[in-house]
Amino acid sequence: MELGKNKIVRLLSDEANQEELLHLADDVRRTHVGDEVHLRGLIEFSNICRNNCLYCGIRNGNHEVKRYRMAPEELIGMAKKAADIGFKTIVMQSGEDMYYSKNVMCEIIKEVKKLDVAITLSIGERDYEEYQAFKEAGADRYLMRIETTDKDLYHRLDPKMSWQHRYDCLMMIKGLGYELGSGIMVGLPGQSIESIAEDLLFLKEIGVDMAGIGPFIPHPQTPLANETGGTLNLALRTMAVMRLLLPDINIPATTAMESLHPEGRIMALQGGANVVMPNMTEGEYRKLYELYPGKVAVNDSPACCRSEIARKIISIGRTIGTGCGQSKSFAAK
Ligand code: SAM
Repeated sequence: MELGKNKIVRLLSDEANQEELLHLADDVRRTHVGDEVHLRGLIEFSNICRNNCLYCGIRNGNHEVKRYRMAPEELIGMAKKAADIGFKTIVMQSGEDMYYSKNVMCEIIKEVKKLDVAITLSIGERDYEEYQAFKEAGADRYLMRIETTDKDLYHRLDPKMSWQHRYDCLMMIKGLGYELGSGIMVGLPGQSIESIAEDLLFLKEIGVDMAGIGPFIPHPQTPLANETGGTLNLALRTMAVMRLLLPDINIPATTAMESLHPEGRIMALQGGANVVMPNMTEGEYRKLYELYPGKVAVNDSPACCRSEIARKIISIGRTIGTGCGQSKSFAAK
């Protein structure tokens, strides 16, 4: 749908007509990507990070968090369990932990690929050679949010990081033929509605195949502990407008939405989303990968997480995707 910045700002600001917007996004989702909800098994394999993003619970400067790093065999073992219970995509996410060198990562990717699954990496900024090697080893998709397109805000929130470098990484990833996932947080301190509108137009312009939109939730052990945070409603409206702008991409119902409301992910699935990433991280690790407070199901088992969300998806008249859930936008390229 052709929507200019002014119209997007109006849609994002219009809380009174939110229901109508979400209905429209739901219709567009049904027409373009159907009723299937694709499930991705998420494994959070290290909470060690070299960066110090002001908003993030696993920022380098948070000395209160107990750090962990899975051994490659442990990570591969968890991926195998996820594949055994039916996941066709495994998402491997971590802080920017350089223990996982190019070679270590490639060995992991090759082993996980033997499980006949699609692989999404979400491990942050790397060199071109590394992205290339990961792709050759079998990674299919890469997920890295731009977080915000307001460069001043980005540089305030991600000290020592460069917005331009993150953008360059996204372009390398796209150029290498990955299915490209990106996204933003909404409700960041100092972020305007106009800036969110620009974020959405940016995601359209770079041609993402997947866009994750989540509310910013202040973490008590970060410098932004006392900020207000984003609302579920603004996150839902932002996601709905994303669906109108890019009708055939994959859009996840993000975990952060569920942290703000027990039915947050179902509300998202009824407002334009078509992907859910149940957490397949096992044991204590799941609690320790705390990007923001209120993370759901920290004590549940992986199998329980999957069956619970599958039950809810079916209860709203949707079906569980049977394939690896490649985005329609990528398939059309
Ligand atoms: N290191 C990888 C990267 O930079 O892409 C992946 C891990 S990073 C922690 C995953 C995402 O968590 C970030 O892109 C950010 O949008 C989100 N996140 C971090 N802190 C958050 C918070 N306080 N509230 C909501 N989302 C948060």
